[in-house]
Amino acid sequence: MKFLLKKEEMFSFMLPEFLVERRGDRCIKCRVCERQCGFGVHSYDEMSNTMRADEMKCVGCQRCAVMCPTKALIIRPHPSDYRPNANWTREKIQDLKKQAESGGVILTGSGCDKPYRIYWDHIVLNAAQVTNPAIDPLREPMELRTFLGRKHDKLEFSFDGGEVELVTELYPNVQIETPILFSAMSYGAISYNAFKSLAMAASEYGTLFNTGEGGLPKELRKFGKNAVVQCASGRFGVDPEYFNVAAIVEIKIGQGAKPGIGGHLPGEKVTKPISETRMIPEGTDALSPAPQHDIYSIEDLSTLIYALKEATNYEKPVSVKIATVHNVAAIASGIARAGADIIAIDGIRGGTGAAPKIIRDNVGIPIELAIASVDERLRREGIRNKVSLIAAGGFRNSADIVKAIALGADAVYIGTPALIAMGCTLCQKCHTGICNWGICTQDPQLSKRLNPEIASKRLVNLLKAWSNEIKEMLGAMGINAIESLRGNREMLRGVGLQEWELEVLGIKGAGE
Ligand code: SF4
Ligand code: SF4
Repeated sequence: MKFLLKKEEMFSFMLPEFLVERRGDRCIKCRVCERQCGFGVHSYDEMSNTMRADEMKCVGCQRCAVMCPTKALIIRPHPSDYRPNANWTREKIQDLKKQAESGGVILTGSGCDKPYRIYWDHIVLNAAQVTNPAIDPLREPMELRTFLGRKHDKLEFSFDGGEVELVTELYPNVQIETPILFSAMSYGAISYNAFKSLAMAASEYGTLFNTGEGGLPKELRKFGKNAVVQCASGRFGVDPEYFNVAAIVEIKIGQGAKPGIGGHLPGEKVTKPISETRMIPEGTDALSPAPQHDIYSIEDLSTLIYALKEATNYEKPVSVKIATVHNVAAIASGIARAGADIIAIDGIRGGTGAAPKIIRDNVGIPIELAIASVDERLRREGIRNKVSLIAAGGFRNSADIVKAIALGADAVYIGTPALIAMGCTLCQKCHTGICNWGICTQDPQLSKRLNPEIASKRLVNLLKAWSNEIKEMLGAMGINAIESLRGNREMLRGVGLQEWELEVLGIKGAGE
């Protein structure tokens, strides 16, 4: 055993994040935990016939606790702590020590976990009582069908001998059976099995998944009519067929978890199938520049929007995705005027496969405020019908979605809930390439843990459950179509919010 360090060696001053408790009366030394942990926490010591744990390696993903056949393991936050200090919290001290030891930017995965106000928890919904009847969704039809794309200012009809015909040529719109889409998650950031599970579930339920910026593998192009395909700054996997098999083409300008930041998929994760899908050499870093190098103005954006419309024969709606930053409403107005059919806005709590922690936790604004201000601005300018608005970043249940639609969104993207449905425990280690649940990894041993047949079933169940809950809430409000809820802020009231917050949200306080 080594007790003395050489001069140049640095001993880590970090405290372990998690405590690994193994109940001796239950452990049968089967070594399942050892095999399940990609981080190498558990090991078996033959000499003493005991199981050991290296707590410094534990990330709290709970895979071992779930898979242990005798439920002998308890993984919980480590009780060792620094002297309580409101200014210097444990996280701040640990991050600083980590940087003193590594000299690097701290990377992380998942979404921002900081306690910024979650407005969903300060907004309550209305219900019909006496003067307007509630509707029972189990007995009466309830419409969640949503159409994404530009809508006309007016429709023209011809009347010929009693025959009525629509003269206006309709803009391309995409029909989905529920206002819930799966967020952009690229093949490369997530495993093939996770990517395929999302595609299968979207196809089965009649909604859309989003390829992210990593392309769409050839053998999955059969799911194209349920795909939103991204054209991002790295242009990975982009070819005419990619655009033409899709339902919607999306230009990615920004992402809620890392506004203003590009992406980096390290070369070791660029395996043969990923290199083929992204159209880059195997083993090379996939670098997405922070800006789109051909977009420096709204006019440039318009050029790309129309280039994509040309490439798809004006048959696909073109979406533009941005992160919610301070002047999001003005930017959205410019995007609508530039010719986009859909605007996707991604809030500060949006997830990521990898981002600098300092950016993830400090840049951007909450999606609730962004939806309200974008919808209000587009209405005020008389151009709300020119775009559909998809909100992303921070939806945790169906009530959040109902509130988002009442604030003005047409539909929502869900990323983190989809990952949790597949098994994710929000350990925030997606950037390491080790995901014990087989979701955010390219390690074949880990990714085969995720069975697409089972994972897609879990995703479909989630969509079904949330859609049924949305119908329940609509029925309680006396509304029988999601269309009637859109931008209907009378259905919302704020609780415990300040005057300026109510004003931005465009809602009254409870009791008013
Ligand atoms: S999986 Fe459970 S029972 Fe098996 S060795 Fe680990 S702690 Fe013991
Ligand atoms: S996807 Fe995997 S690595 Fe990422 S937070 Fe979830 S469990 Fe952790």
